[in-house]
Amino acid sequence: MKNYKINTKCVQAGYRPGNGEPRQIPIIQSTTFKYDTSEDMGKLFDLEATGYFYSRLQNPTNDYVAAKIADMEGGTAAMLTSSGQAANFFALFNICNCGDHIVASSSIYGGTFNLISITMAKMGVTATFVSPDCTEEELNAAFKPNTKAVFGETIANPALTVLDIEKFANAAHAHSVPLIVDNTFATPINCRPFEWGADIVTHSTTKYMDGHGAALGGAVVDSGNFDWMAHADKFPGLCTPDDSYHGITYAEKFGKEGAFITKCTAQLMRDLGSIQSPQNAFILNLGLESLHVRMPRHCENGQSVAEFLEKHPKVAYVNYCGLPSDKYYEVAKKYLPNGSCGVVSFGLKGGGEAAKIFMKNLKLAAIETHVADARTCCLNPATSTHRQMNDEQLKEAGVPAELIRISCGIEDKEDLISDISQALDCIK
Ligand SMILES: *Cc1c(COP(=O)(O)O)cnc(C)c1O
Repeated sequence: MKNYKINTKCVQAGYRPGNGEPRQIPIIQSTTFKYDTSEDMGKLFDLEATGYFYSRLQNPTNDYVAAKIADMEGGTAAMLTSSGQAANFFALFNICNCGDHIVASSSIYGGTFNLISITMAKMGVTATFVSPDCTEEELNAAFKPNTKAVFGETIANPALTVLDIEKFANAAHAHSVPLIVDNTFATPINCRPFEWGADIVTHSTTKYMDGHGAALGGAVVDSGNFDWMAHADKFPGLCTPDDSYHGITYAEKFGKEGAFITKCTAQLMRDLGSIQSPQNAFILNLGLESLHVRMPRHCENGQSVAEFLEKHPKVAYVNYCGLPSDKYYEVAKKYLPNGSCGVVSFGLKGGGEAAKIFMKNLKLAAIETHVADARTCCLNPATSTHRQMNDEQLKEAGVPAELIRISCGIEDKEDLISDISQALDCIK
C-alpha cells in the first residue's frame, strides 16, 4: 500500500484478505506448522522458501502487523518483538559484536541507557554518549574505528529533547555506519525518521501504537537503504557466510531491503526467542487502526496542558517542544510539523513537597509508570522510578525532585486542565 497516505495505511496496510478470508487479522494461536514432506520443511530451514515452522521465530499474525508498521514508516521489512527493550537490543546486537562500539545520544529512555551502558558493556560492546545538542565536531569526535551504529530517540523519554535526525544521520554515514532511531514517542504519524536519513527505526509498541495500555511489544523496521556490502568489513555478520544457516550471506541473498530483518529473525529471534505473542500482535493492530485519529488528540491535549502550565504561577518551568519558549521548538518545527506527542514535563516552584501534594490530589490523571496511553497518567520520578537517588543525583540525572511528567490521554482537554488546576490549588 506504498502509494496510500499514512491514515489509510494505519487502517488497511499489512493484511489484505483474499476472497472469503477473514476481514480482521486472524490470530494464529499455534506454536508450530505442518508440512507434507521433509523436503518442504527443509527449504524453510535453508531460507530457500518463505513460510512458517515455529512461532519462536515467526508467526503470520505478527508478520501482518509488522508489515503494516514497515509500510507506515516507509521501510522495506519489519519484525515484532516481545517489548521495546527487546527491539532496541535486537537492532543494536544485529550489527554489534563483542569488541564493537556504539555512539548514542545521552538523552534516551532509562531502560535503553541501562541496556547499552551496563548489559551490552558486559557483552563487550562499549558506548560513547553524546548530548543531543552536541556540535557536529563533538559528534564526529565520538566515533572510533570499531563504531558500528549510532542511536537516538526522535523525542526522548522522559527528557523530551528532540533529535536533529539529519545531523546524526550525516555523522553516522560519514563513518560508514547506520543511524538507529527509536521513534516510540513521535510514532510514524508525526515523524518518519527514514525521510531524514535514519536507516533503522525501533518502537516500543507498548506506548502510543497500542495506546490502550493493553499489550507489551516492540518493533524493528529497516529502511532498506543502508548498503551493508559497501562496508562489508564493518558488518561481517551480514556480509560473510553464516555457518549457523548453511553458509548463507544475508546481504547477498536478501539484498539491502531484506538482509537486516532476515538476519535478526533467523539468528537473534531463533537464539533469544523474544517474539511478541500473536495475541498481543492482534491487540497492537487494533491500536494501529486508530493511531492516526488518536495522535492529533494527544498532541492537542499536550499543547493545551503545556500552555496552561506555562502561565500558572506555581509552575517554575515546562518542557514541551510545542511551546515557542522551548529549547527544541525550532528543531521540532522541522521534524514534527504536525505535533510531537502528549507527554509534557514540568517543575513545581514548591519543590518535592509541592509535587507530592499535587500528585495526591489529581482525580483524572492516574499515578502510573506508564506513558503514551489513551488515559492520562502522571509520574513524579523522584518518588517513584528514581527514588533510590538522593537530591544531588536526581538533579544530575535531569529529574529533580519537583519534576512531574504528565502523559496527556485523549480525554477532553478542559477536564484535564481543570483536574490539573484543582490539584495545583491544593499546594499552599
Ligand atoms: C518504554 C520505552 C522503551 C521500552 O519499551 P518496553 O516496551 O517497555 O520494553 C524503549 N524506548 C522508549 C522511547 C520507551 O518509551
